[in-house]
Parts: sequence; structure tokens; C-alpha cells
Amino acid sequence: MAKEYSNGEIKIKWQAELCQHAGICVRSLPAVYKPNSKPWIQINNASSESLKHQISNCPSGALSFTLISKQ
Ligand code: SF4
Repeated sequence: MAKEYSNGEIKIKWQAELCQHAGICVRSLPAVYKPNSKPWIQINNASSESLKHQISNCPSGALSFTLISKQ
């Protein structure tokens, strides 16, 4: 099951079945990744640049992103 989160610039996709629950995302951006909250990814709590950098460090590929083109 994949979930998507958008801030208007970037769309994060999280694929639960791939997540290794290593917690790297939570440690690197604790204001965004909050496993005990709903939604657990609070995308507006970091810049798009920070999110891109962090997502590239997800070891499983559970997190990915696409850039939203401005019309
Ligand atoms: S960094 Fe990736 S694999 Fe690790 S907990 Fe976060 S989403 Fe899951």
C-alpha cells in the first residue's frame, strides 16, 4: 500500500511494504517523520530541499519523491 504526501512542490510516496523500519528518516527529520502521529509524514515541517536529501538516504526505497511542475 503506497501513500502520498504533497506540499505543492514535491510529492513524497511511501510504500509501507518496502519499509525496513530502520528509522533513518525519523532520526534525520524528526519534525517530519512522526510514527505515532497521523499523518505520520508531516511534509510541511521541512523544506523541499531537506526532504529530497533525506529521501535519498532511505535504505529500502520505501520513500521516493517526484517534483511537482509549476504550471
Ligand atoms: S528511512 Fe526508509 S526504510 Fe527507514 S524507516 Fe524511513 S521509510 Fe522506512
